Amino acid sequence: MENKAVSLLSRLISIPTVNPPGEKYQEFVDFVERYFRSLGLDTEVVEVPRAEVAKYCPECADYPRLILLARLGEPKLHFNGHYDVVPPGPLESWKVTRPFEPAYREGRLYGRGAVDMKGGLTSIMVAVEKAAAAGLKNFEVSFVPDEETGGETGAGYLARSGKVRAPWVVIAEGSGEDNIWIGHRGLVWFLVEVYGRQAHGSTPWLGLNAFEGAVHIAYRLQEYIRAVSTRVSRYEFDDPRGASPTATMGGEVRGSVKTNVVPGYFAFSVDRRVIPEEDVEQVKREFIEFVESVAREIPHKVEVKVTNVSEAALVEPGHPLVETLSSAVEAVVGRRPRRTVCIGGLDARFFIKAGIPTVTYGPGPIGLAHAPDEYVEVRQVINVAEAYYNLIKKVNG
Ligand SMILES: [Zn+2]
Repeated sequence: MENKAVSLLSRLISIPTVNPPGEKYQEFVDFVERYFRSLGLDTEVVEVPRAEVAKYCPECADYPRLILLARLGEPKLHFNGHYDVVPPGPLESWKVTRPFEPAYREGRLYGRGAVDMKGGLTSIMVAVEKAAAAGLKNFEVSFVPDEETGGETGAGYLARSGKVRAPWVVIAEGSGEDNIWIGHRGLVWFLVEVYGRQAHGSTPWLGLNAFEGAVHIAYRLQEYIRAVSTRVSRYEFDDPRGASPTATMGGEVRGSVKTNVVPGYFAFSVDRRVIPEEDVEQVKREFIEFVESVAREIPHKVEVKVTNVSEAALVEPGHPLVETLSSAVEAVVGRRPRRTVCIGGLDARFFIKAGIPTVTYGPGPIGLAHAPDEYVEVRQVINVAEAYYNLIKKVNG
């Protein structure tokens, strides 16, 4: 099985499905569609309407967004994964191999997308092949684009389309072979905009310094961050520091012109991460009210824009999907997997919002996504495939 997994994964990595803008999607989907057809599955390719793509990424609309569906029988289980990968970054930082020339070294397969998440796609393909050979059926698979650019034109579109027929979804994103992500945090992004009056740097008394206003608000916002970070989720997280709300200020700033100009406008971003117990509408209100109250302490006009919202999503750790997957995993890795909440975001929210219980479980290690010299452990790819195969057997039992 090891040779098969290595050659299949190598083939997937060698198709550079870089997003943005979304290259080689057709070539990738053609290859995978042929693979599933050869195993006797029915396949369907859905193109996301270009107008829909243009809403989220105008420069992407010239590249087709393709969703591949494959089915056998009446689906009781749905496996999902995204096939787009982030750009490789500077080539000099890739030491082991070039990003799209996969290399196998001591149990690891290196290349862009190895762990995020063509390793997970390979686990699905290997499990499906084994299940089909054993005469098992009643499952479906979707491979989607655009997770790396927000997911709306991939898993989001699929979940809203009503084309998922199975009652449960498993996403093969790399959680690690002994860890099930039962959910993930959400986020709200803000842009705090401070308006002053521009003037010459030699006559600051003629202006109103927007940067100084922004500094006042940013300084006071540390109180807000301290206050919300005392909340602690009751669920287990990969890292306990992620079990509380967090906020990152100043990831993006806008507005200054030049040393000898009093800035008339200055804006900074706040990336507020949301735990499953929080409601994004409440988070928005609370943040905006706080900024409005401290803005009264300065003469500037201040506005808060919400630039991105993504809800946290979760299934309870005792849900039958989690229990069933957990025992399928335990039979392979020899211990009960952890049931944690992912600190970042996942496509799971789209399916959960559509009313379909969804968990995320796939080969790791975690922490290498988007990095140079990205790799996946081939042993994990194979163990996860075995766990999926066990799960197909269980839902058919
Ligand atoms: Zn991913």
